[in-house]
Amino acid sequence: MTPSAPLPSVRHLQCLICGKTYPPEPDRYVCPDHGREGILDVIYDYSHMARAISPQSLAATPDPTIWRYKPMLPVTSDAVVPPLTVGGTPLYRTERLAQCLGLQHLWVKDDGREPTASFKDRASAMALVKAREAGARVITTASTGNAAAALAGLAASVGFPTVIFVPASAPQAKIAQLLTYGAQVMLVEGSYDDAFDLCLEAADAFGWYNRNTGYNPYMSEGKKTVSYEISEQLHWQAPDVVLVSVGDGCIIGGVYKGFYDLYQLGWIDHIPRIIGVQAEGSNYLAEAWAKGEDVLTKPPIQAHTVADSISAGLPRDRLKAMRAVRESGGAFVTVSDEAILRAIAELAQYTGVFAEPAGAAAYAGLKQALDQALIAPQDRVVVINTGNGLKDVASAMRAAELRHARAYRIPPTLAAVQRVLSGEGDML
Ligand SMILES: *Cc1c(COP(=O)(O)O)cnc(C)c1O
Ligand SMILES: [Zn+2]
Repeated sequence: MTPSAPLPSVRHLQCLICGKTYPPEPDRYVCPDHGREGILDVIYDYSHMARAISPQSLAATPDPTIWRYKPMLPVTSDAVVPPLTVGGTPLYRTERLAQCLGLQHLWVKDDGREPTASFKDRASAMALVKAREAGARVITTASTGNAAAALAGLAASVGFPTVIFVPASAPQAKIAQLLTYGAQVMLVEGSYDDAFDLCLEAADAFGWYNRNTGYNPYMSEGKKTVSYEISEQLHWQAPDVVLVSVGDGCIIGGVYKGFYDLYQLGWIDHIPRIIGVQAEGSNYLAEAWAKGEDVLTKPPIQAHTVADSISAGLPRDRLKAMRAVRESGGAFVTVSDEAILRAIAELAQYTGVFAEPAGAAAYAGLKQALDQALIAPQDRVVVINTGNGLKDVASAMRAAELRHARAYRIPPTLAAVQRVLSGEGDML
């Protein structure tokens, strides 16, 4: 392990299974007693944190990126961070959609607006900082696509080499991103789970810095910044409910951690109920939740969903995901692929936010949660869009078809326009 630099607010890393603690080395990934399952949590000294940062000092900090929260992150105060603008994404109040759903307060946090167009930039930015701290020369990750694109893009911004493992079935746009950013790309003939196992093996064999989700404990810490932003954007009045889609469970774990930190600091007076949204065809955690199963012994499932970013047969960050829902008094819900596709168009048409399937799944989950009476009309609700719709144009076209949205092919004449307006045009 690389000796740890002094991280002002960090106490240690702690195994979520046995509670054993470890120094916060940048390349300490898991508890050796528990192997790949031994996910570590970064434990902070909140009184130290409170001396270094406050809502008042933040109000006077012009930096809009996740690094405005440096004293709350496992980084040194002089850490060199990648130059791309990660974080600082908009939180939109959505009156029209709220009204349709019978809600009084609904916001969409649009992380499709990150530099590589997904939430994963929050974690990959952290990976770059930790890899440098570890003195690594190459960073690697397995990914369904977005974590890889995020790592490749952020690495490109500082000229750091990456080796990426994605399932050969990943959408074209995501593979295109990897190749244009200059990553070394391995299209693994197999599932994400196969790519994940291979990546861990390769990282070990070649000594690469390992960014893998549900393995590198610092990824949740990058992801938790979304909750800091939401809370700050709402003037430290925490929402009552947050909905987010769940594959490996790292994002939802980070969402919880962010609110947990703020609650420990006394900056918010409650932790929101966190609702994890899974696709029906990739429902490992939702099923474990519903049946009270132990996720350390529950076997993998066969995952199939149009929402490729949340397709995970064995969610790697399942301990943090279950903790997020349990400790926040939240729930898991599942949504069908058709509901996800419909959600893409509905969210776009009512809010102007264009989401990829996994992003829109969170909104589909909101409708499901309302059906199940998990949310009250007066609750203050935030839906997180985790990925941009341009990531998966094929699914967006299917979403438009489901709503019978059509384009007309016309000759360049005003008469043709008139024919279309009067309902006599040829549909494309
Ligand atoms: C990765 C991802 C998710 C799910 O995050 P997990 O940490 O795997 O649960 C959701 N939406 C998008 C767009 C993603 O890229
Ligand atoms: Zn352990």
